[in-house]
Amino acid sequence: MQAQIIDGKILSAQVKAEAAAETAALKEKGVTPCLAVILVGEDPASQVYVRGKAKDCHDCGIDSRVIRLPEETTQAELLKLVGELAADKAVNGILVQLPLPAQIDEKAVIDAIPPEKDVDGFSPVNVGRMQIGEPCFLPCTPAGCIRMIESTGTPIEGKRAVVIGRSNIVGKPAALLLLAKNATVTICHSRTANLKELCSSADILVAAVGKAGFVTGDMIKPGAVVIDVGINRGEDGKLHGDVDFAAACEKASYITPVPGGVGLMTRAMLMKNTVQAAARQNGL
Ligand code: NAD
Repeated sequence: MQAQIIDGKILSAQVKAEAAAETAALKEKGVTPCLAVILVGEDPASQVYVRGKAKDCHDCGIDSRVIRLPEETTQAELLKLVGELAADKAVNGILVQLPLPAQIDEKAVIDAIPPEKDVDGFSPVNVGRMQIGEPCFLPCTPAGCIRMIESTGTPIEGKRAVVIGRSNIVGKPAALLLLAKNATVTICHSRTANLKELCSSADILVAAVGKAGFVTGDMIKPGAVVIDVGINRGEDGKLHGDVDFAAACEKASYITPVPGGVGLMTRAMLMKNTVQAAARQNGL
């Protein structure tokens, strides 16, 4: 079997086109969605991500405000800024680029973002709403994974899904969203005993480990849909996923590439959340 590629470029362009159309409709009603992105410090990867988010906003007709703060910013200064953006009616979404410098408590900052402007879907209120299936902002990476699986036409309902990784931003919410789509879900993590056996039983395998090539061909059930969330920079300077792509292509029915896969969808889903925030805040 040679897997078909789930093309993040094509799919993310579709999602962004949807966000652009929704933005245009909001603008006709006098509302221009606006995303505020706060970047503290000089982390090179974060700078790339923030530039990407501003470009995506521009592409979709969404206003963006990028606020760059020095590395030595205090928690009080950052909380004050988040508070100002929270009160600013022109700002619909607030995103604080992670990681933050060591002197700042990430949790306190995320908690300070009002749930209705938490377009990353990281605040406890949004996480709780997702858990009980209430309207909320879905975290962008897991929501992008679901969209990629659905794009294959493979029904999720009744399937056995295995998620490797249990982080709050990827693994746990990915598992919850698969459960909400009626998959039978197993979460594997660093202490899982029979990882290979569990993975090779998965109709849908989501890898969010952070280790290049961690998922080998023998861990993949023939015909599985494989979603590779990992972004690992190799010694060759290139980006690698968590999955041994060449080996997985021999087994899977569909697979996402790295780069050109989940990362692009994460960006696109943020645009959808920002438009949704603007609509909700204006009762539209
Ligand atoms: P994390 O380090 O918070 O979590 C990694 C998870 O992997 C942990 O829950 C851990 O239990 C599990 N794990 C580690 N070693 C393991 C092992 N030997 N066996 C089984 N499980 C093991 O990372 P994260 O934030 O969830 O990110 C995971 C990967 O996804 C990283 O490569 C990250 O760069 C990438 N990522 C990509 C996107 C995107 O948009 N594509 C977004 C977020 C994260």
